[in-house]
Order: sequence, then structure tokens, then C-alpha cells
Amino acid sequence: MSQDCIFCKIIAGDIPATLLYQDDDIIAFNDISPQAPTHILVIPQKHITGPAALTEADQALMGKLVEKGTELAAEVGLDDGYRLVMNNGEKAGQTVFHLHLHVLGGRVMTWPPG
Ligand code: AMP
Ligand code: ZN
Repeated sequence: MSQDCIFCKIIAGDIPATLLYQDDDIIAFNDISPQAPTHILVIPQKHITGPAALTEADQALMGKLVEKGTELAAEVGLDDGYRLVMNNGEKAGQTVFHLHLHVLGGRVMTWPPG
């Protein structure tokens, strides 16, 4: 756990969140500022600062994040498309430096992203 990490505080139960899934490796919860009708975050329990900090040892964990993201998308009925996003670094829009997968859906997405 990182002391000043908002997502570590959610994992610890110190900050409330609408939890959708939890196991020993990952948790999923609703984004507090949704950018689409469905906006879920799937994060590892372990504090990893972002995609660039992943190592070979995290391959299974990363696969699990994506698998759970797609499972939750199906569960909430995003059958006609959704977007999985990971921002890496401030210039890409990363604001929370604890690895997270955004699952966004429920509206038409445009490309390229802003
Ligand atoms: P990013 O900009 O890729 O780092 O995404 C961080 C996401 O975390 C943003 O979409 C925020 O709305 C979301 N977020 C920040 N604080 C909270 C919180 N306390 N509970 C749920 N989501 C949060
Ligand atoms: Zn953290």
C-alpha cells in the first residue's frame, strides 16, 4: 500500500466506493466521475504506478484485469461495444498513479480519442 494513493485507500476501505467485484488480486468499482453511462475501474490490489511499471511477473495479473473488465462489461449489458483504456503518464491523462483499467460504454465512442 502507498500511503498517499487514493486507490490504495479504497482497497483498504478508508475511502468509500461502489464495489462491483473483489478477490485477492483485483477489485472493480464505479468511477466517481463517469465519462460514459457505464464507467468501471478495474485495479490490482497491489500498488503498481501504471502500465509502464508492469513487469513480466505481472503478466497474469494484467490478463486478469482485462478478463474481469470484459466480464463486467458483459454483465452490465455492453453487448454492442465498449472501450478498455489505460492511461500512462500525465500527458496521456493519467491522474491516479495506481494501475487501472477503464471500462467505458453505453454511448457511441469517437476515434481518435482526445
Ligand atoms: P486516470 O485519469 O486514467 O488516471 O483515471 C483516474 C480515474 O479515477 C478518473 O476517471 C477519476 O474519475 C477516478 N477517480 C478518482 N478518484 C476516485 C474515487 N475516489 N472513486 C472512484 N473513482 C475515482
Ligand atoms: Zn495505490
